[in-house]
Amino acid sequence: MRVDVSAPILARNERLAAENRQRFAEAGVFVLDLLASPGAGKTSMILATIDALRDRYRIAVIEGDIASSVDAEKIKAHGVPAVQINTGGACHLESDMIRRAVDTLDLDEIDLLIIENVGNLVCPTDFDLGEHAKVMILSVPEGHDKPYKYPNIFARAEAVILNKYDTLSVFDFDEAEFREVVSRLNAVAPVFPLSATTGEGVDAWTAWLAERIEAVRAGSGPAGLVGQEGTDET
Ligand code: MG
Ligand code: ZN
Repeated sequence: MRVDVSAPILARNERLAAENRQRFAEAGVFVLDLLASPGAGKTSMILATIDALRDRYRIAVIEGDIASSVDAEKIKAHGVPAVQINTGGACHLESDMIRRAVDTLDLDEIDLLIIENVGNLVCPTDFDLGEHAKVMILSVPEGHDKPYKYPNIFARAEAVILNKYDTLSVFDFDEAEFREVVSRLNAVAPVFPLSATTGEGVDAWTAWLAERIEAVRAGSGPAGLVGQEGTDET
C-alpha cells in the first residue's frame, strides 16, 4: 500500500507561504530564496551582495542549515541582522520556519531579506516560502552537466548565478553548453557569471536584484510575480 504524504504537506506549506507573502508585501520587503548545493558559495555570494547593496538598502538574512550557526555568525560579523534556522535534519526550509524566523525581525526596517536555503538541489525547489524570487547558484567546479541532472531547479529559478567564475580555466566547464541547456529549461532566467571572491560580475547581478527591490518598494509588482514570465522585462 502506498500513501501519498507529500500532497497535504505541500498544501499546508502553500497556505503559510501565502501568509508570508502578504506580510512581505505589506512591509515592502523584497524576499530572495537562494538555492544551491553545499559548497557552491552561497554565504560568500550573500556577503558580496551585501557589500554591493548595503549603502542603498537595509538587508537582513535568514540562514537555513541542518545544524550549526556558522553562517549566521559570518553574516552578523558583517554587521547585518541574521537569523539562523536549524532544520534538525530536514533538507529544505518550509514556510512555517520562515514565519517563525520573520517574527524575530522588524520587517519595517528591512528592504531586502535574503534566505539562504539548505544546500540541496532537489526539494527546496518544491517549497514556496512566500519569496518573490528563487535564485539558483551553481559553481563552476560542480560541472556544466548539472542542469541535465537537476532540471527542475533550473526550470524554476528566476535567475541563475554561475559562481566561482574565476576558476573557469581550471575546470572542464563548457559555458556555451551550460547556457544552452539552461535556456532550453528556462527561456527567461538570466545567467550571471560571477566570482564572489574577485567581485567580477557582482554589479550585473546586483543591478538585476536592485530593479526588483525597487519594484516591491514602489508597490508596483504583484507579490510573488516580480520578474516572472509576463512582466515587461527589457
Ligand atoms: Mg552557507
Ligand atoms: Zn528536503
